[in-house]
Amino acid sequence: MEQTDVLIVGGGIVGLATAYQLTLRRPGTSVIVADKEAEPAAHQTGHNSGVLHSGIYYKPGSLRAKNCRSGKLLMEQFCAAEGIPYDICGKVIVAIGENELPGLERIFERGKANGVACEIIGRERLTELEPHTAGIRAIHVPEAGIVNYRAVCLRLVEKLTAAGGRFVGNARATAMRQETDGVAELTGAGEFRAKLAVNCTGLHSDRTTRLSGTEPDVKIVPFRGEYFELKPEAKHLCRNLIYPVPDTNFPFLGVHFTRMINGHIECGPNAVLAFAREGYRKRDISLRDLAETLTYPGFLRMAKKHWRTGFGEMWRSFSKGAFVRALQRLIPEIRSEHLERAPAGVRAQALTRDGAIVDDFVIREHGRVVNVCNAPSPAATSSLQIGLSISALLEPRL
Ligand SMILES: Cc1cc2nc3c(=O)[nH]c(=O)nc-3n(C[C@H](O)[C@H](O)[C@H](O)COP(=O)(O)OP(=O)(O)OC[C@H]3O[C@@H](n4cnc5c(N)ncnc54)[C@H](O)[C@@H]3O)c2cc1C
Repeated sequence: MEQTDVLIVGGGIVGLATAYQLTLRRPGTSVIVADKEAEPAAHQTGHNSGVLHSGIYYKPGSLRAKNCRSGKLLMEQFCAAEGIPYDICGKVIVAIGENELPGLERIFERGKANGVACEIIGRERLTELEPHTAGIRAIHVPEAGIVNYRAVCLRLVEKLTAAGGRFVGNARATAMRQETDGVAELTGAGEFRAKLAVNCTGLHSDRTTRLSGTEPDVKIVPFRGEYFELKPEAKHLCRNLIYPVPDTNFPFLGVHFTRMINGHIECGPNAVLAFAREGYRKRDISLRDLAETLTYPGFLRMAKKHWRTGFGEMWRSFSKGAFVRALQRLIPEIRSEHLERAPAGVRAQALTRDGAIVDDFVIREHGRVVNVCNAPSPAATSSLQIGLSISALLEPRL
């Protein structure tokens, strides 16, 4: 049995950022990050869009708004200090018709309340920034940016190793026992004993919360986001980040264009129910995961209420034509032949039993374990700040 001060379960960006902040704030603390996969950042972190979000969308005062603002700054500083490429390229949020102007105005007000540098621009300025986009008015957010979060994670692992800790792969946590002076955790790579543990397991956060000895108050339902990317001959159609005015009920829906730091331009996503928590392809099915989703009252309530939206998303999953039409709202010149399939991502969507979408970060302590129960977008942008907050919870107890 290996002994450590802190065991972090989950080597996505939240777990690794927590390990980094802890070893920085309290040098000499021994930290092990255990992940069920061989490599870090294998799931949400390694399949995301790589946007450094500004924090414009989030409710003022929410954990997402606060953590995104300071987390983005910390992430930029980290990347600058470590020589990790990032680009503060700016973003436009585009209103296509008059009916979207009140929504645009609401986001602008939120942006101002959250301290985001942003301005409303007219058609002429929009055309200067993104010559191929439609739209009558937009919000320009010059401080939004892009980065490769997987690259950030690999550097965080190096930092952890240099601080005397380590990343352990193939170490799925299967059991956890809280004792008076520590936590014993059984994983695929052996048993660990720690003074304190942190679960940052993304798509499995409800399950590891249960392992820690408390019943989670949400269920994670996986939604696959499917993407296309622009072929080289069509890349000129998008310079940076072009987003629609989001639907307030489903802020994560709405296809957009994202330039990645490697120069690819991602188009999408739609959002369809994944039949497995790590169901990156339509044919990936886990009977356990699917049965849990389909028997969960919260999912059934949400599906009943929003089935029309759900069908629209599914239709775009099966019909490239429908996907292209959604993209054409933002860039009318896009044609089907400009697009090729790109890898999908699966989002951990936390739902309550009454069918409500939990959109803020949720971090709860249970005995000697801190459970990160919900870390949706922009958790990658915010990760270094989330890690700082978790470290502050752990430090006095070490
Ligand atoms: C398609 C998509 C696009 C996104 N775009 C952005 C963006 O542009 N900007 C942004 O800020 N955010 C974005 N997000 C959100 C962001 O990626 C996530 O919020 C963030 O990566 C969450 O990090 P995490 O460490 O909590 O989870 P994850 O990255 O999912 O990591 C969890 C880890 O836990 C491990 N694990 C699970 N169960 C166990 C177990 N029992 N034992 C051991 N290990 C376990 C998994 O293998 C995994 O490595 C996006 C998300 C998606 C899905």
